[in-house]
Amino acid sequence: MAPLKHNKLIDQQKIAKRVHELGREITSFIDRENLKDELVAVCVLKGSFVFFSDLVRAIDADLATEFLGVASYGDGMKSSGEVKVTLDLTSSIEGRTVLLIEDIVDTGLTMEFLMKTLQARKPRKILTCTLLLKPSALKTDFKPDFVGFEIPNDFVIGYGLDYQGFYRNLPYIAQVQSLN
Ligand code: 5GP
Repeated sequence: MAPLKHNKLIDQQKIAKRVHELGREITSFIDRENLKDELVAVCVLKGSFVFFSDLVRAIDADLATEFLGVASYGDGMKSSGEVKVTLDLTSSIEGRTVLLIEDIVDTGLTMEFLMKTLQARKPRKILTCTLLLKPSALKTDFKPDFVGFEIPNDFVIGYGLDYQGFYRNLPYIAQVQSLN
């Protein structure tokens, strides 16, 4: 694949600082609301794996980790609106507090689908955290509880986010200029 032209949007230091702040915000919310028991952090694969691994280490609480595979994008840059579960949780979430960790909320369709799917399993509560939110792309009423950064409605790569399976290992977040 020919290299994509991209501009750095959020650098490593800014990401690390915000992830630590989010960790503190989530920790104090969990303390305040008494949600410490039976906490399970769910990583929405594939894009969230980098953010997830940094964020869970910034949360000061006992938590279990689970991984949920979803596919909502094809290989292009537009949301298909179709969401399917490609890898399911391995334990029950009934009665537990779920912290659902997503890399990016674009139209909100993926999170709306996941909330519906997970609510049906009777958790005590679902908290949602996304590193990135594109407010002008939202097509649903979904509102994450915790947001890292609001960004413009452009396609971004890096820090877990891909283009055709590549660029997930970029340590920063970049805006794609154009497709070759
Ligand atoms: P939504 O269902 O909110 O439209 O989209 C959520 C999913 O679409 C994300 O989990 C992510 O996989 C993908 N997505 C949305 N916007 C972007 C983007 O700018 N870059 C990349 N790489 N993926 C995106």
